[in-house]
Amino acid sequence: MTPIAIYYHPVFLEHETGEHPENKKRLVVATRVLKESGLELDWVTPEPAPVSAVARIHDPEYIELIRRVAEEGGGWMDMDTIVSPRSFEAALTAAGAGIAAVERALETKQKAFLLVRPPGHHACRSRAMGFCLFNNVAVAAAHALDGLGVGRVLIVDWDVHHGNGTQAAFYGDRRVLFFSMHQAGHYPGTGMAREVGVEEANGFTMNVPLQPGCGDGAVRLAFDSLLLPVARAFRPELVLVSAGYDSQRGDMLGGLSFSEGAFQWMAACLSELGGEIGAAGPVCALEGGYVPEMEARSIVATLRGMEGEKPEFERTATTDEHADVREALEEARPYWQGVL
Ligand SMILES: [Zn+2]
Repeated sequence: MTPIAIYYHPVFLEHETGEHPENKKRLVVATRVLKESGLELDWVTPEPAPVSAVARIHDPEYIELIRRVAEEGGGWMDMDTIVSPRSFEAALTAAGAGIAAVERALETKQKAFLLVRPPGHHACRSRAMGFCLFNNVAVAAAHALDGLGVGRVLIVDWDVHHGNGTQAAFYGDRRVLFFSMHQAGHYPGTGMAREVGVEEANGFTMNVPLQPGCGDGAVRLAFDSLLLPVARAFRPELVLVSAGYDSQRGDMLGGLSFSEGAFQWMAACLSELGGEIGAAGPVCALEGGYVPEMEARSIVATLRGMEGEKPEFERTATTDEHADVREALEEARPYWQGVL
């Protein structure tokens, strides 16, 4: 089996955020733990993305603004998103990792994990948000669709926060099936079950907001009853994941309680799905996760899942978990008749 590619560049450590929870220690610990894991991995050093590829998702004026702020020494883009002198280069390289990983996944079926920062899924067309500058997953998906002629892309977002930037990028685009599980009412406030897409893309966005405390029962139920049946019907050619680990029990910024095994199981399910329908990927991009040692162990679990090591994962949903997944299911059902 081809080893999983890990896309990593030292410039990701030069995106300086100081005492911020999203800091370079996350990647310092993750690279060490991955190297100690005993997994056979293919370490790849990505190039910066061409600005034209980032401009499929972001306004050129916004890209230029980030470049200028970095060049002038840095500054705050919003109350929690910082640009440092090397952040533009780091953000372009994080987006470039997605582009390279998608190209290689489509060509050779090699799976990949992007060990990148800054993260991306909150970044909007012309706005930095929630520690994110450029939307790495959205840029990768747009490159596959508009640069490489792919017809359908599945994006799964398991970060504790809703991937609002990714949702907005493809809200009216039925070539992308976007599925997000996140904590209800948490930052950034979007991602309600009734947000299902617009016009011809109705039903191609699926949001599963979960009450605080929800965990593995919701993961199992949402995948089995909603995501996997719809994904099989959608038949993506490429599977991307916004892999955030702040949804894990004990994270300092989240209130959900996914276990390490849940990440391994989800990754294994998505790998299996890819094998079954011939889709490339998964290509997973790191988003949040703010207890570095715990996050690193869960990344290793994700890689084991991607390698096909599917753990025992029988979980019974609690009343809250059941109600939350059912609400999402009811919203999706009219658009997926005969599937759900
Ligand atoms: Zn997050």
